[in-house]
Amino acid sequence: MTITPLMPVYPRCGVRPVRGEHCHLIDEDGTHYLDFASGIAVNLLGHSHEGLISAIQKQAETLMHVSNLYGSPQGEELAQMLVDHTFADTVFFTNSGAEAVECAIKTARAYHQYEGNEERFEIITFKNAFHGRTMATISASNQDKMHKGFQPLLPGFKYVEFDDLEGAKAAVGPNTAGFLVEPVQGEGGIRPASQEFMQGLRTLADEHDLMLALDEVQCGVARTGTLYAYEQYGIVPDIVASAKGLGGGFPMGACLATEKAARGMVFGTHGSTYGGNPLAMAAGVAVMKAVANDEFLAEVRAKGERLRSRLEQFIGNYPDLFESVRGMGLMLGIKMKGEPRPFMVHLRDHHDLLTVAAGDQTLRLLPPLVIGDAEMDEFFDKLSAGAADYVQEIVS
Ligand SMILES: *Cc1c(COP(=O)(O)O)cnc(C)c1O
Repeated sequence: MTITPLMPVYPRCGVRPVRGEHCHLIDEDGTHYLDFASGIAVNLLGHSHEGLISAIQKQAETLMHVSNLYGSPQGEELAQMLVDHTFADTVFFTNSGAEAVECAIKTARAYHQYEGNEERFEIITFKNAFHGRTMATISASNQDKMHKGFQPLLPGFKYVEFDDLEGAKAAVGPNTAGFLVEPVQGEGGIRPASQEFMQGLRTLADEHDLMLALDEVQCGVARTGTLYAYEQYGIVPDIVASAKGLGGGFPMGACLATEKAARGMVFGTHGSTYGGNPLAMAAGVAVMKAVANDEFLAEVRAKGERLRSRLEQFIGNYPDLFESVRGMGLMLGIKMKGEPRPFMVHLRDHHDLLTVAAGDQTLRLLPPLVIGDAEMDEFFDKLSAGAADYVQEIVS
């Protein structure tokens, strides 16, 4: 037998974290890594946030799980917080991002089918998007590497170039149910959509009675400096998929919708055994209490601006290595001149700095949102040293 007990779908590296402290991960062997990956935009309160820990501990002692067949004071509390702080009128809780996107897709289709428009099932999505790894969510992406081995895909998706409003307009037809789009592409390389594009999609959706569904699984929950990224585009979506940061490390997600958009999501149409369980809800409430306020969000914006302007200055020292800085808030990327992976590995293995490679030759920087000045300085120390000896290595 050569297969590993963990199904070998991930090319795992040698870093084996066993403990987390604020913005650092501590390895089996005691190495402290500065964490600018945050479990891929998950650990927004860092790794040992007291409020989050005690909320989970308390709930675990009180009631961990009950069925959705019963009333849920815990779910009502978090749903009400999300409704109060967003466009949404109603929320379905899931256990992951992909499930939140699944719910968004089902909600968009059900809206039309419950109106009697069975032919309107097609969702227009955008190239290089990432929506998750379930059959529907890989079908929603045009990326062949995610499809290989898993055909046939789910029908009913049409792919258009990201940020191409004319392309989106041309793709709308009698079968269109709506759009599914990341306001800031994450895996695709930290690419924020333009204002014109997002506003144009809203207008198209209004003109044709289409659902505008946003995948904010990565960019949502304070990451970009507003609770959700759509706020910075001056638009109101119909549906938003949220997850990652929402549980601060506890696995959970949510599908947010307006009352109109959720018209088809009636008794018996959808469900989840674990979705919205009290333990997850306690984590979500603790996260929302920490981040859904003006002070915290203003801090994220200020830190994001500081990080960005220091990065912009820094990359000027290495014009052969780096091209540009992009992103919003603390969801930033450095577009590199070549593949980002070797540099990510170099920073990890020689400078104990964790970042994430993404598409479009981009190195992703996703620090915990609670990062302080000391960790910001530590980051630039590591990045400067890392770039200096990486360039040496390439030259020699
Ligand atoms: C991570 C991610 C998902 C999938 O989330 P999972 O929790 O891994 O299922 C979906 N959409 C976007 C934009 C993501 O970044």
